[in-house]
Amino acid sequence: MSSEPENQPQPTPSGNDPDPVVIEPDPTPEEDPTPPPPPPPDDTMGLVVTVEPGTWYEVTSVCSTDTCPNLNTSTTEPMVYSNAGAIRMVCGVCGKFRPILEVVKLDPQPEMS
Ligand SMILES: [Zn+2]
Repeated sequence: MSSEPENQPQPTPSGNDPDPVVIEPDPTPEEDPTPPPPPPPDDTMGLVVTVEPGTWYEVTSVCSTDTCPNLNTSTTEPMVYSNAGAIRMVCGVCGKFRPILEVVKLDPQPEMS
């Protein structure tokens, strides 16, 4: 027989703090190594022009990078090799792909040995 008085200490209410809201930063999405380039202006052939493989072309391109000193400056490369059949031009100043304005197959093709 026990006659303990029921005077156990009540847990002190501590203000009923709600759980703190933990704002987790968004997980960084894995960056695509080759982000899709912005659509080129209408008067260009695009950033990649499909041509005959293994052929030399004269390629005129223009830089469309807002921050580039070469913005809207078109340049003609007299000899561009198409390799597997695609031509891409990279701006030597800003390093971005340049929309291609014109591709002209060299005729005759230069002799490369
Ligand atoms: Zn540029």
